Amino acid sequence: MLCIALSRFPGEANVPSPRRLLSRLRDLRASSGSTPLPELIHLVAGELVSEVCSVYVQKPGDILELTATEGLNQTAVGHTRLRVGEGIVGLAAATGAVLNLPDAQNHPAFAYRPETGEDPYASMIAVPVRRGGRTLGVLVVQNRAPRRYTEEEVDELETVAMLLGELLPASGATNGGTEGVGGTVPRVFAGTPLTSGVAVGPVVLHGPPRVPIRLLADDPGTEQRRLHDAMEHMQRGLDALIETGVPQANNAADANATREVLEAYRLVAADAGWVRRVDEVIRGGVAAEAAVQRVLGELHHRMRRISDPYLRERLADIEDLAGRLLSALLGDVPKPDIPPGAILLARRLGAAELLDWHSRGIVGIAVEEASPSGHAAILARALGLPAVGGTRGMLDTAEPGNEAVIDADDGQLVLRPEAEVRQVYLRAIESQTAQHAGWAVLRDRPGRTADGQPVKLMLNVGLSLELAQLNTVGADGIGLFRTEIAMLARGAVADVPEQAAIYSRVLDSAAGRPVLFRTLDLGADKLLPGTVTQEDNPAMGWRSLRIGLDRPALLRRQLRALLLAAGGRKLSVMFPMVATVSEFRAARTLLLAEARRVRPAPEQLEIGTMLEVPALMWQLSELLKEADFISIGSNDLMQFLYAADRGTSSLYGRYDLLSEPVLDLLDQVLKTARAARGGTGVPVSLCGEAASRPLEALTLVGLGLTTLSMPAASVLPIKALLAQLDLTAFRPVLAAIRRGGAGMASLREPIAVWAREHGIPV
Ligand code: PEP
Ligand code: MG
Repeated sequence: MLCIALSRFPGEANVPSPRRLLSRLRDLRASSGSTPLPELIHLVAGELVSEVCSVYVQKPGDILELTATEGLNQTAVGHTRLRVGEGIVGLAAATGAVLNLPDAQNHPAFAYRPETGEDPYASMIAVPVRRGGRTLGVLVVQNRAPRRYTEEEVDELETVAMLLGELLPASGATNGGTEGVGGTVPRVFAGTPLTSGVAVGPVVLHGPPRVPIRLLADDPGTEQRRLHDAMEHMQRGLDALIETGVPQANNAADANATREVLEAYRLVAADAGWVRRVDEVIRGGVAAEAAVQRVLGELHHRMRRISDPYLRERLADIEDLAGRLLSALLGDVPKPDIPPGAILLARRLGAAELLDWHSRGIVGIAVEEASPSGHAAILARALGLPAVGGTRGMLDTAEPGNEAVIDADDGQLVLRPEAEVRQVYLRAIESQTAQHAGWAVLRDRPGRTADGQPVKLMLNVGLSLELAQLNTVGADGIGLFRTEIAMLARGAVADVPEQAAIYSRVLDSAAGRPVLFRTLDLGADKLLPGTVTQEDNPAMGWRSLRIGLDRPALLRRQLRALLLAAGGRKLSVMFPMVATVSEFRAARTLLLAEARRVRPAPEQLEIGTMLEVPALMWQLSELLKEADFISIGSNDLMQFLYAADRGTSSLYGRYDLLSEPVLDLLDQVLKTARAARGGTGVPVSLCGEAASRPLEALTLVGLGLTTLSMPAASVLPIKALLAQLDLTAFRPVLAAIRRGGAGMASLREPIAVWAREHGIPV
């Protein structure tokens, strides 16, 4: 049983003893070599001017139990329990925040527990006790007089909470986990697919190294010097990582792209704000490594309150760097070996960390907080790692070594799967590997259906890192080059020569195959630093071409860079989020104006548009007089057509592209495009995620699309699928299904039935 402390100085005014607590803690550690819990508690009691001091410890089932107290009724110990989220104590545990309340009993969250005898105490401070990103309990101090605890007291209590974080597991009051008996049962965490594929293996947890660390220090000057040296060490490590690039980078393009992502790190590393905070904590008498850990905890808490994806991403970078700094301070703590084929679970994951882990052999990742435009997601895609995001809560239950399955296609993590479930996934991987071997032979064959209809299969890419995949999968070209991705990776729009260099590399890699460059599609969830949006509906807000037309200098610079990159070669440019013909005309006029100035002129300049905004449907004939091609962006088109935000996971799968409204729309686009320009026709492709899904690809080709653009991982599977498709037989079937399906929310089932009956792997 944990023995706990109070400090009661009835005759004394409520004057805290600044800094003395920490120096007494230091003396105690120096004299005994360790800190026995009872002494620690006694010391805290002696130094803090508090009338009540208690510790609640988290028990299995998300329960917080009063484990020790001074000042409250001893009979309540072991009996008073609160759920995580219940009462002030539960709220502190749930939010990870320190709650400093002069009048706790009138706080809306206050939960009265008569057995504790806490009626006389007005003020209360609740400090979460954390270790390795987990909440182990809550340290509570209460006083009769209403008062807000000073910043200095809060700092001291946080240091005590850190000590408790080390001591509680050792005392046996908690096992360091939070799920107890629940820790053996299977759990499924639904999230969002960040990439595709399946991985099965034992989990490893991402986090600062779990080694005992020094908490207190005598001489802040020495600690500041250690911090400074560690900063330099970290910076050198980062430089080396940027120089060496992706561990498996075997060409210049890969190395360049990695550099693009990691360069963003330099900006964050150079931002001194968070390091200043570490320095401040050190000056309070805390050892450098403990100060970094404290700041990591604070960052973690701030993250929970920030919804802006870009800011969260930046904070994740800082967290990543702080983890590196901690490693530098601890010296070269040898990284423990990880089991072969391990799956990494992380709360957040920076790009550099992902590269480290990748080089150590992980085969899949699940990240609790990952934005699809985040660096980790971009790199996971480029590295071909099955990855899911948004699997919140998994770290509170996973233990290192637990078996897990990442099902990136369905966006879920299965923790401690039942043996049969694990077997099913292992078989799926086996057959995938066998299929992959079969697909490889398709690489050099042109995409075509069983009855000979050619279908061009192109790539959606955004980083030079991904360019090598053009050859790996034998793609017909790049159907969508998302130019904003490289800018997001560096944290700013590059200048004209830098942009030209990026685009030129793309054209070099394509080696004559077509490339459709899309101009910057910034805004919504793709925000550069300093562009925090206050819009209620950013997906429908000031984004994409709207920004380009309102900031023509930005757009013109990009267009100039594209023309320079082409250097006389053919150039195809398309504009995103076009809503009116006049917007397309305005953008096209800017491009033509730039084209008149740049020499050598491209041998051919094609100017097209994405079709993402439904209003274009009623302007198609006019548009097609001027647009050289159309690329259907089904991701955005679907969200606007069904008024269903593509980023809201609860709406995922609610509306189906395989439904008559969408198929009818696509049909109309194809018919109008075929008839355009006096029957010569205007090429149409589709570059939304739908093109990469088997049933959708089948149906799109059935409708008449002959060019699909998709992530690299899907090209060979879709090529294999199309090779089985007798298009002549399928077309009338599809027409019949559509006629019979009027009014139905989805036509998926009848299409799937036909495909399965005809041996098509959907
Ligand atoms: C789309 O909207 O379908 C598309 C391809 O563009 P993005 O996913 O980049 O918005
Ligand atoms: Mg789009």
